[in-house]
Amino acid sequence: MVYLTFYGGIKEIGGNKILLEDDDRKLLIDFGFPYKRHKRFYEEYLKPRSGAGLLDPLVMGLLPPLEGLYRDDLGIPNLWQRFRGNAFYRRLDHVEGVLLSHAHLDHSGYISFLKNDIPVYTTAVTAFIAKSMQDSGKADFDQQVCYFSPTVQECPTGWRQVACLASGEEKQQRQFCIADKKPEELSADARQFWSWGFWEKTARQKELTSSPLAAHTDSDFNLRCFPVDHSIPGACAWGIETSAGWVVYSGDLRLHGKRADLTKNFMAQAAQLHPKALIIEGTNVPRETNIAEQEVYENGLKAIANSNSLVIADFSPRDVDRLLTFLQIARDTGRKLVILPRDAYLLKTLRLLEPEIPDIAQEDSLAIYQETIASKSPRLWQRNLYQEYSSRIVLAEDVSSAQDQFILCFSFFDLNELPSLCPKPGSLYVYSSSEPHDEEQEIDFHRLHNWLKHFKIRGFGVHVKRGDKWQVPDDERGLHASGHACGPDLLKIAHEIKPAILIPVHSEHPDFYIDHLSNSGIDVILPSLGETITI
Ligand SMILES: [Zn+2]
Repeated sequence: MVYLTFYGGIKEIGGNKILLEDDDRKLLIDFGFPYKRHKRFYEEYLKPRSGAGLLDPLVMGLLPPLEGLYRDDLGIPNLWQRFRGNAFYRRLDHVEGVLLSHAHLDHSGYISFLKNDIPVYTTAVTAFIAKSMQDSGKADFDQQVCYFSPTVQECPTGWRQVACLASGEEKQQRQFCIADKKPEELSADARQFWSWGFWEKTARQKELTSSPLAAHTDSDFNLRCFPVDHSIPGACAWGIETSAGWVVYSGDLRLHGKRADLTKNFMAQAAQLHPKALIIEGTNVPRETNIAEQEVYENGLKAIANSNSLVIADFSPRDVDRLLTFLQIARDTGRKLVILPRDAYLLKTLRLLEPEIPDIAQEDSLAIYQETIASKSPRLWQRNLYQEYSSRIVLAEDVSSAQDQFILCFSFFDLNELPSLCPKPGSLYVYSSSEPHDEEQEIDFHRLHNWLKHFKIRGFGVHVKRGDKWQVPDDERGLHASGHACGPDLLKIAHEIKPAILIPVHSEHPDFYIDHLSNSGIDVILPSLGETITI
């Protein structure tokens, strides 16, 4: 018997955490940050307490109560006694690994909490993006996907707190097993990137307490990794051979992006496995059609070519396809694309694996924006970057004095630079991302409109609220290609792979598959949170 238990991604987009058990062998499939549930309780100034370790995420239901699964150093005295009566409580020893589909945090984020002897199976690009995000990110205790500083108890005697955990000096690296490349084929620079970390306090770079990259063939399970197309490079789907037949997991994917062929190959190869079960995403099931990246290029070019003032382009820079789309628009309009340091760090990282990624040092249409008034001194990775690409650095005054020469890759959270930039009235804000998905994001959209109005900047493609719906004005559409396949494409994927059982995850409308696959010979089973499906 094979058991699949779903601890996240149920009636929500993201937070996927699936446990596969085949006799006594166990695997996790993704272990994502549950944004929706997190936002029900927390916001920027109210977060789980790092000093409480596992306690807050377990009590608030962000993590499933699976004793034996998590880092020992995040435990506090008598922690598990509190959860032994919980309906989902289980003791879970020896999980062989976690199969990671891609580096979006709603799939990877909570790997941070897993025991360090649970290896992560993924593609080289996903591993490198995850490390690049961690190196240049906020270093929150719950986002230490690739390496972590084991915590130590630091309660001075006499204190009565439950725990008081502080990060130690050591940085331990998690074992990553690469499915699409032989670790020994990586360049020396790539290997160094992987195994070195930054010690900010002492401004030193040194080797992590290291687990070098290994190959995915080390697993006891027979695994197949299928690269697919999504809005971040390196995404993959997985096939796992079990005693009940093949179980295939789609991860997040689409058929309308620049690398649609990858997804098509996955469909053909997965179909040949005649899988017993297909676990498939359903983010965009209500959508009938997609916008292709080429349309984003054409529409963006039209909008920007007509502008003779500053252009701000708002998109997710981890969507490297989109970044390259705007780089091409910058070349075609004789402008420079100005990216933030963390995005430059990501490009530099990706180039270690994919030589076709532009070299910032050689690419005249790229520049790096250095914040005007930084709240802290630059971190070590930033200082290194400024040094390496010193001729590519631009400051607010450079942009301000030649506004028609630049496209700034800023998002809502970078608007604080506008007082330094003094954008001229009539500047353009091109929005190339998705609509607001929750109340918090709606409030940010209202704020974005206020900023644009204040600086007399023209919005293009920015969603406005009409009735209770957020919509892009009719003549400003086609500036965002989603990372997820639309409903008809997802059905095409299901029909071609033709599993005996289909299990939808990562969707607010999983019953779409029941409605559309009845009489297809595919049995749709809707999972519920914490429940086990036997196949
Ligand atoms: Zn994703």
